[in-house]
Amino acid sequence: MWHTTETVTSAFRNSTVPTLGYVTNGLGYNLYNILIGRDGHAYLIAAGTAAHAGKGSGHGMPRDQANLYSFGISFDSNNNTTPVNAAQLETAARLGAAIDREWKNSIRHVMHGEWAPARRSDPTKIPGGWSALRAAINRGYWNTPTTNTTPGRTWLEMVSKSELQSLLRQEGWAYKGRDENRDAYSYLRNTHRMVAAAAGERAGLLEAIRQVAGGAEVDLGAIEKAAEKGVSDALASLEADVTLTINTDQED
Ligand SMILES: [Zn+2]
Repeated sequence: MWHTTETVTSAFRNSTVPTLGYVTNGLGYNLYNILIGRDGHAYLIAAGTAAHAGKGSGHGMPRDQANLYSFGISFDSNNNTTPVNAAQLETAARLGAAIDREWKNSIRHVMHGEWAPARRSDPTKIPGGWSALRAAINRGYWNTPTTNTTPGRTWLEMVSKSELQSLLRQEGWAYKGRDENRDAYSYLRNTHRMVAAAAGERAGLLEAIRQVAGGAEVDLGAIEKAAEKGVSDALASLEADVTLTINTDQED
């Protein structure tokens, strides 16, 4: 959800992002997730819930619950002397496009004034209006296409070998077995979840192995076979767990 801070003009005389302190600490909780300063810098304030949306409805979210279902991004600007500027719009378009890439275009870009039209009209003073902001997000920039609009590297390409090894060790022990859940139906649901996870992670593990190998000669066919066997062994052991759990938990 997009906003403008509507901070008073005098505050902007000495700072490119005068509202940062207030929205981070002013009320004892976060008021946005991201704040865009006058120089176009995007300040990451908080993960999780921020108190930015207030009462409202529509746009695929439960009534009055947008703080739980959206993250808030605000321009530090107002609707009179200090409107949104070109640097901020450039950042917003790229940030919005990056979000769309990350969430595979499943995110809606909602304006605060659309969520709560009776009491809010921000973000204000977007040249061309809200539709122009959405269009810029779609094309990935406001004014200036640059080489930066090429897709970023994946986390697998950025992670170090030791980080990856540590991650693989942790993931290897992430699945819980029997006694995770005493309710049989719940156990079955969890089993389905784990089966899906195991199948989905197979591709990732293969890719991880490629990365760890770092260009060395690797027989990927053999690795693939081993992974398939690992998954089928895991499924067999999950089934054994389910049988055991149902039997031991029966009470009548
Ligand atoms: Zn707002």
